[in-house]
Amino acid sequence: MTKTYELSAPVRFVPGVGPRLAALLKNLGIITVEDLLRHYPARYEDFSSKKNIAELLLGEKVTIQGTLSKIDSVFLHSRRSITKGVFQDETGQLEIVWFNQPYLKKSLPVNTPLQISGEVAASGNKLTMINPVVELSQNPINTGGLIAIYPETRGLSSKWIRARLYYLLNLPKDQLKIDDQLPEDFQTVYQLLPLAAALKMIHLPGNFGEITVAKRRLAFEELLQLQLKNSLKKQGWEKSQSAVSIHSDKSQLDVIINKLPFKLTSAQNRALTEILADLGQNQPMNRLLQGDVGSGKTVVAALAAFTVFKAGFRTIIMAPTEILAKQHFQTLTELLEPHGIKTAIVTGETKRQPPTESGDVLVGTHALLHRKVPDKVGLVVIDEQHRFGVEQRGQLLKLTTDTKVPHLLTMTATPIPRTLALTFYGDLDLSIIDELPLGRRKVKTWVVPGAKREAAYAWIKTQLGQAFIVCPYIEASEVETLKSVKAAKSEFGVLAKIFSGHQLGLLHGRLKAAEKENVMNEFRAGKLDILVATPVVEVGVDIPTANLMVIEGANHFGLASLHQLRGRVGRGGEQAYCLLFSDSDETSESGRLKVLEKYSSGRKLAEMDLKWRGGGELFGTAQHGFTRLKIATLSDYDLIVETKKAAEEIIRDEGNHYPQLWRQVTAKNVNDVSPN
Ligand code: ADP
Ligand code: MG
Repeated sequence: MTKTYELSAPVRFVPGVGPRLAALLKNLGIITVEDLLRHYPARYEDFSSKKNIAELLLGEKVTIQGTLSKIDSVFLHSRRSITKGVFQDETGQLEIVWFNQPYLKKSLPVNTPLQISGEVAASGNKLTMINPVVELSQNPINTGGLIAIYPETRGLSSKWIRARLYYLLNLPKDQLKIDDQLPEDFQTVYQLLPLAAALKMIHLPGNFGEITVAKRRLAFEELLQLQLKNSLKKQGWEKSQSAVSIHSDKSQLDVIINKLPFKLTSAQNRALTEILADLGQNQPMNRLLQGDVGSGKTVVAALAAFTVFKAGFRTIIMAPTEILAKQHFQTLTELLEPHGIKTAIVTGETKRQPPTESGDVLVGTHALLHRKVPDKVGLVVIDEQHRFGVEQRGQLLKLTTDTKVPHLLTMTATPIPRTLALTFYGDLDLSIIDELPLGRRKVKTWVVPGAKREAAYAWIKTQLGQAFIVCPYIEASEVETLKSVKAAKSEFGVLAKIFSGHQLGLLHGRLKAAEKENVMNEFRAGKLDILVATPVVEVGVDIPTANLMVIEGANHFGLASLHQLRGRVGRGGEQAYCLLFSDSDETSESGRLKVLEKYSSGRKLAEMDLKWRGGGELFGTAQHGFTRLKIATLSDYDLIVETKKAAEEIIRDEGNHYPQLWRQVTAKNVNDVSPN
C-alpha cells in the first residue's frame, strides 16, 4: 500500500517513528509531518569536496569513494573500543579509526563500494581519518555533499532526523501533499521558490546557492505571516474599540513644563507631541515609547498623565518591580501634586491598600491586575513593557469597566532599530527618544581581572560617592554548582569588612516590601554609601547621586542587562564608573564584556547582544513571536523591509490579487483583536 501524507498528519505516521521517538520529537516541538519538514538545519557540514586518497591534504574535509579491505575492533576496558579499517581506492590506502562504534565491524561490508566523509588527520607520519561518516555509495544521505546538522535532543541524532526527511522529501509529489501558502503568481512577483522545492533544498541541498534561495523563500514566508498578523491585529483593534478623545491645552501644559527642573530635550518634546496627538483621537492609542536608559521617558509619561487629568480622566501606570513602582510614585507625586493631582500606589505588599478611587494617577506593580480598577481611566502606561507578558498587558486594558477603552502607552529601553521595531511591534505606533539629556557623560567602564580586585577596592574608596555592588544571586545555595558565583547575602558580609568605614545596605527580592523601601529610601537620602544588591535594581532605578556601579559575575548577564545596570549611575551629570568582574575564565566571555568598555549606546550593544546570545534577552520572553522565528533572523534586514512592503500591499489590496492568501490570513485573525 502506498502511503500518502498530509502536512497536518501526526509525525508518528512516518516510517521509523514509533511512540518512543514521537515523544522525543515532541521535545523538539515536532508533532506533525509539517513540523518535521520545518525543523530547519542549524548548520551544514561541507563534505562536497571529493578526492582520491593520493590527493588528500591534512586538515581538509573531504569525501572519498572506495572499499574497505579490512576492518577490526579492539575492546578496551570500561566498554570502550577502537575499530580500525583500511580504506582503499585506485590511488592508495588510508587507515581509518572509529572510537566506540564496534557495531561498524558487523554493519560495514568489505569489498563493497562505500563512501566516507570526514576530516583528514595525521597519525605519526601517515594520514588517517578519525570517526568518519561512512555509508554505501549507492544512496548516500550522510556523506558526499552538504550535510544538514539539526538541533538535536537526547536520543535523536541529526543522522536519524536526516533519514526521515530524506524519506519524506523523496516521496512522489502525490504522496506528500505540500500545500503552498503562497500562490504561484505571488511567488513569481517576489521571486520565491515553491514550498516543496524550498524544503527539499534546505534539507538536502546540492550546493550553497540552493541553501540561500531556499532560506529566502522560507524566511520570506515567515516574516510575511508575522507582518500580516500584526497589521491585521492592529487594524482589528483600532476598528473594534473606541476611546475617549482627550484634548490637550497648550497653556496648561506649559505651566507644568516650565516648572520642571530641566528643559525637555527636543526628542522628549517630539515624543510628547506624538502622544498628545494620539490622545486626541477617539481610537485608542497603542504606542511604544522607546528611549535608551536615562533618556527621560518618565517625565513624558507624567506630562501625558497631566493632560489626561485636566480632561477629567485617570491614568494608571504599571511597573515591573515594586522598587520601580515606588520610585515612580515618588517622582510623580513630586511632579504632579503641586498641580492638584492626587497620586496613589498599589503593590502586592502594601499593608492597607488605598482604595484605587483615591488616585487621579494610580501607580503600581502587576498587583494592579488583581484590584478593582476605578472608572474614568483615560490612559494606561506600562513601563519596561518587555518585562510583562502579552497577556498581562492585555489584562490591564480589559480590567477597565468603561465601555470605552483607555489609551495605551508602553515604554521600553530596548533599543531595536526602527524597521525591526515596526516589524515586530507592527501592531504598535512608535515614538523614539534618541537623545540623552544635556550634560550626561559616558559611564567609564572597565572589565577588571580577578587579580586586580584588591586594587579596585582601594580605588573605589577614593572615588566613592555612592555605589551599587550587584551580585547575580541572593544566596549561594541557589547556585550550588557554581561555587565561585558571588551571592548578595554573603558578599554583603565580606564587603562590610572591606568598606568598614562606610555605611552599607543590602537589597534583594526576598526582603519584605517595607524593608526594601526602607533601604532604597536610605540610599536615596544618602545615608548609605554602598548598596549591595541583586539585579532587582536593574530596571528604572533612578538615584542621581550614585556614581559607581560594580557588577559581580558580569558574565551571567546579557549585554542589554549590563547596560541597564550601568545606566543606574551617572544620572546627576558627574563622571561615573562601572567595574565589571567576571567569574568565568573563558576569553570569549571577557571579549563579550569588553564590548561595554567601548560602546555606550544601547542600540549598538543590542546589536552585539543579538550576535552573542540571540534575541531572547533583548526582547523579553513571551512577546510578539520574536523568539519563535524559526528561520528568519533579525539581521535579515532587507528581507524584513521587503516583506513589510508585501504585507502592506496585500492588506491594501484586500485580497483582489491573492484571494487565497487573503482568505488564509483573515481566517486566522478574525477572533484575535486583543492589543499587544
Ligand atoms: P528612563 O528613560 O531610563 O526611564 P528616567 O525617566 O528615569 O529615564 O530619567 C532619568 C533621569 O533624567 C531622571 O533623574 C530625570 O529626572 C532626568 N531627566 C529627564 N529628562 C531630563 C532632561 N530633559 N534634562 C535633564 N534631566 C532629565
Ligand atoms: Mg524608566
